[in-house]
Amino acid sequence: MGSACVPETAGRLKRLIGQEIDSIATRLIEVSDDIHAHPEIRFEEYYASKLLADELEEHGFMVERGNGGLPTAFKAERRFGSEGPTIAILGEYDALPGLGHGCGHNIMGTAALGAGVGLARVLAREAEKAGISGRLIVFGTPAEEGGGGKVYMVRAGCFEGVDAAMIIHPGNANRINSRSIASQRLIIRFHGRPAHAAATPHEGVNALDAMILTYNGINALRQHVKPDVRIHGVIMKGGDAPNTIPDLTEAMFTIRAATSEYRNVIMEKVKNCARGAALQTGATVDLELYGLPFDPMKSNSVLEDAFRTNVNLLGLEEDRAPREGLGSTDMGTVSQAVPSIHPSIAIGPKGLIGHTQAFCDASRSPDGHKGLVAGAKCMAMTALDLFMCPEVLEKAWAEFRAG
Ligand SMILES: [Zn+2]
Ligand SMILES: [Zn+2]
Repeated sequence: MGSACVPETAGRLKRLIGQEIDSIATRLIEVSDDIHAHPEIRFEEYYASKLLADELEEHGFMVERGNGGLPTAFKAERRFGSEGPTIAILGEYDALPGLGHGCGHNIMGTAALGAGVGLARVLAREAEKAGISGRLIVFGTPAEEGGGGKVYMVRAGCFEGVDAAMIIHPGNANRINSRSIASQRLIIRFHGRPAHAAATPHEGVNALDAMILTYNGINALRQHVKPDVRIHGVIMKGGDAPNTIPDLTEAMFTIRAATSEYRNVIMEKVKNCARGAALQTGATVDLELYGLPFDPMKSNSVLEDAFRTNVNLLGLEEDRAPREGLGSTDMGTVSQAVPSIHPSIAIGPKGLIGHTQAFCDASRSPDGHKGLVAGAKCMAMTALDLFMCPEVLEKAWAEFRAG
């Protein structure tokens, strides 16, 4: 073996990685903006998935299109040497219904592409000399927004044999520690009986009343839940005409909590709000879980430290202020399967908030492009550290196993 874990070698290879990623930056930005211009919602990301997979294939990755039973997922792999660890870099590329890339996932998919290609180009020349052996995988992971693509992939065993997984998310600061809470979506559907709203209302069963009572019941429930709980929803179908008693209504709610166990407790209480409303109105209720549950993020501090070193190396400023609110991500479920990190890379100023038009605009702005390139470099350099220093991975696994 060569010179694994030698700081001088690592420094030299990181400079090369930086140069490689800079040399493809124009193309990465093109790809990111192209995905931004073709927003596709969960499970429909055919354009983005093909674009990213094609690029990886062109750069010598062995690409398997469709992964974990998801047609818009992919796995792109390169091997260096015959043994060593498997490091996975993940990218998302789904858009939000009605808001395009308001969560900036175009940057995530493309940062994974840039990290994979940048690192692979350096390792193809240098791995043997530097005594590096291992397998690099870039996973295309669809349907983060409400679909849980990664949950399907974990359940299908896609991450078996993976030693560490990383992904970056665009944000309003460089935040290395990421927390996220457990979540699950629920569809509530009431069936009533239609009737003329003026002539024969006594013949009707009002599915809209049942829905409003459910909504208010959930609002009353809020006083009696732990502070980490979030329950939020929309009524997607509320009736057709004011002079007909609505006989079908439908809503979608998201239920979140710090732990999967407590989320399940709250889920049952929310269902009971709907069951109670059904009893009150005489409507019948269907309760259907939508998508798969997301587990909370178990961010690995050993991997975070490795990532932090590279954030510092690139001269990026880390924001260590505690976060006000927490979202959920299907990366949480990956992090319960293998040591993982999910840092944020800044693409705009402090006040920039996800799931807004402003965030959508930032995701194709000059700052967005800068974040994309920086995110790609941080991931590629961190993956290099993991290939070079087996003891970092050992420590990461020790922490992971300890809970
Ligand atoms: Zn989002
Ligand atoms: Zn997102």
